[in-house]
Amino acid sequence: MGIPLASESRLSSLNGRTPTIATLCSHSSLQIFHGARREGFPTLGICVGPPPKFYDAFPLARPDRFLSVANVKELPKATQELRDDGAVIIPHGSFVEYLGPEAFTTMDVPVFGNRAVLGWESDRRKERDWLESAGVTMPRLFEDPSEVRGPVIVKYYGAKGGKGFYLAKNREALEDFRPSGPYVVQEYVLGTRYYMHFFYSPIAEGGYRLRHGALELLGMDRRDEANIDELYKLGAQEELLKAGIRPTFVVTGNVPVILRESLLPRAFDIAARIVERSIDLFGGMVGPFCIEGIMTEDLEFKVFEISTRIVAGTNLFISGSPYSDFVEPGLSTGRRIAREIAHARAAGRLAEILS
Ligand code: ATP
Repeated sequence: MGIPLASESRLSSLNGRTPTIATLCSHSSLQIFHGARREGFPTLGICVGPPPKFYDAFPLARPDRFLSVANVKELPKATQELRDDGAVIIPHGSFVEYLGPEAFTTMDVPVFGNRAVLGWESDRRKERDWLESAGVTMPRLFEDPSEVRGPVIVKYYGAKGGKGFYLAKNREALEDFRPSGPYVVQEYVLGTRYYMHFFYSPIAEGGYRLRHGALELLGMDRRDEANIDELYKLGAQEELLKAGIRPTFVVTGNVPVILRESLLPRAFDIAARIVERSIDLFGGMVGPFCIEGIMTEDLEFKVFEISTRIVAGTNLFISGSPYSDFVEPGLSTGRRIAREIAHARAAGRLAEILS
């Protein structure tokens, strides 16, 4: 038996009924509704204003019903309605960002996964404590700018899609940086980026075993990042700056990638360490998560970020990926989430996967 995350009273709205899978109409919602329907769950789309018309174009991924709110921040006012519906909320990146971490943490509606993870993910220093204490290599952090030797990246707190990040090729260039909020200065890692989509189930039997349950790899992508991905065409950052363009990392899309097969054991080892450590720190990071890092020419993988819920890159793999096809043909992360809820419900173990 694993670790209970949700109290009995939190889950009382689900007693004796089929849960309704609910999420905010954005980000990866099509995949989440599609996966839930395929597992036989009713679905509810939370939308701002009238139901978005684009769902009509995707009949297999359209939620059964909509709950319309004037503003995402007002969602907690609909707590009773959501409980009456037997809703289980599936968090995704935009959902947490728009609702706000405070409301997300306190809302009295069952949420898929462990909401305690938020406090560890949203603060870059706590995130680093978690990952480094798990034995994961991260880009070097510079507390003292005078120690900077090579190129660095200055990053603001929170998931801002890389907006406003600053690149400095050396210590002198860093002196020109004028901060507009809390930030960290990191070594700029040269290499190839990989965004690896894992799923941790504390209740799974078989598979890649951890202390409780098992780990799955469901896909992998690389992000297209606005003007920075085109940097090579101009030759150097100075060329962009001369043109009055500040390099940004704003995500504009995703492309599928795979890792050299010989590097997979390392990928699983890193993911396993991060999950095992999360169990010690806050009861475990349950469900989908994404390890975001850079493979250097020495084949060292440096993790710069972890996203602790479904990431938009999984939208590439609605009908399976080169990895999930070896778990079950055609398995998407959205469907895997619904499957986890179905299994936990059948086994009377919902408290271990909902919070
Ligand atoms: P999101 O939450 O949307 O993932 P974010 O604002 O938290 O974005 P990061 O994911 O940490 O930002 O970084 C954004 C991008 O900046 C990365 O996708 C990567 O391209 C680049 N990047 C981040 N850290 C480094 C680093 N240490 N070295 C090189 N590039 C980096």
